[in-house]
Amino acid sequence: MPIRLHDSLTRASRELKPAQPDGIFRFYNCGPTVYAPAHIGNFRTFVVNDVLRRLLELEFGPGKVKHVRNLTDVDDRTIGQTQKEKRPLAEITKKWTDLFHADCAALNCLLPHAEPTATGYIREQVSMIEVLMDKGNAYRAADGSVYFKVSSFDGYGGLSRIKERELLVTDTTADSDHKNSVSDFALWKAYKPAEDGDVRWPGPRGAGEGRPGWHIECSAMSKALLGDTIDLHTGGVDLLFPHHENEIAQSQCCNGTTFAHHWYHSEHLLVNGTTMSKSKGNYYTLGDLVAKGYSPMAVRYALLSGHPRKQLNFTLDSLHAAESAIHTLRAFRATLPATSTAAHHVFEPVIAALHDDLNTPAAFGALFTIVNRKGGEADRVSFDRAIFALGLDVSGAQPAKTEAPAAITALAEKRWAAKQSKDFAAADALRKELAAAGWSMLDRKDGYSLEPLKK
Ligand code: AMP
Ligand code: ZN
Repeated sequence: MPIRLHDSLTRASRELKPAQPDGIFRFYNCGPTVYAPAHIGNFRTFVVNDVLRRLLELEFGPGKVKHVRNLTDVDDRTIGQTQKEKRPLAEITKKWTDLFHADCAALNCLLPHAEPTATGYIREQVSMIEVLMDKGNAYRAADGSVYFKVSSFDGYGGLSRIKERELLVTDTTADSDHKNSVSDFALWKAYKPAEDGDVRWPGPRGAGEGRPGWHIECSAMSKALLGDTIDLHTGGVDLLFPHHENEIAQSQCCNGTTFAHHWYHSEHLLVNGTTMSKSKGNYYTLGDLVAKGYSPMAVRYALLSGHPRKQLNFTLDSLHAAESAIHTLRAFRATLPATSTAAHHVFEPVIAALHDDLNTPAAFGALFTIVNRKGGEADRVSFDRAIFALGLDVSGAQPAKTEAPAAITALAEKRWAAKQSKDFAAADALRKELAAAGWSMLDRKDGYSLEPLKK
């Protein structure tokens, strides 16, 4: 059964397969901007892409997938952060890259085959910009910046279906950015000493010193590592416009060929109905949740519990349920015979659900249907294949549960009673007392549990 996935360009479900004769599936996933911690919203996107990567490897073979995920280590946000902190760009991006890597590992995400940084590919970006200028798709502005001329590319708007009217491509009044049309976008941003500090590189021919625009970074890294045409390009839904629309324009005008055969955008993680985002400040990091006593595997499970193309509201309650699901899976695995039986098909419904537009909730449903009927003739080999696709690490022994001392349980009982009688001030005060003693109390509808806070 082939892998079928929704394609944002044609808005249809299409089969994923390598287009080139070498049989290598070329997959580019836009990576994080490393100026702050990645939050679990960002990780919803990266975990979904990790399942996709795993599925592709199961289908085409481990050596037959090339997965590239970049690090955006120079753009407006990273430079803004160096200004705020008065520290060098490389110091800031290294700090957040290291944390990103640690969180990816804790969430059991496979390493991409290449993880290019934007600053490592400046020459490639500059040469793409030069080609675009030579071909008449880009122009130099008075301040030394270079812009992409949107009206030079007929296909513009094809991904986002943005109307020409909305784009204002006919508006040729120069704006304060020195561009000819408000819809044109920067390929190269001229150096501004007050804002850019020491972040600058020699520019494309005829342009001044400066730094690349964000969109050209991905076009250049994808071309350098995967070639002119790739099989799949992905990111969160907010990247569809303008980032991916602009990538298509740049790459196709520069290379003269299709950029990506397939586009996939996963939906956002919400908090109380609003997108989780750094700018809104309504976010949790993995570290925040681990400090509350949740395991990274429960976080991964919760992030996959909703259909990736539907928004998912995040709650601590969902983590609670996820924690118990992980517990069940780990206990179930321990009951399975380690040797392979003939029953390789038992867990195939799990893989089949993923093959059908990455339907992770259906995959979990199929998995628990089998687990709940105690597996029948299942064995560990077939179970592990399904679990590999989901990327859940449930192979170890059950982590020891720490029992709360009597004094802590007494406090928790008092707090529970206060909450039931809607004395929220008292409940909050007791929660603080518990935290000071090193315990976190997790509320559910029907009760609570106590978890030791990580030191
Ligand atoms: P950034 O680090 O801001 O460049 O974002 C990295 C990735 O996370 C991108 O693919 C975004 O589309 C994605 N993303 C941002 N916010 C969320 C969210 N609330 N839920 C899911 N994905 C998100
Ligand atoms: Zn990108």
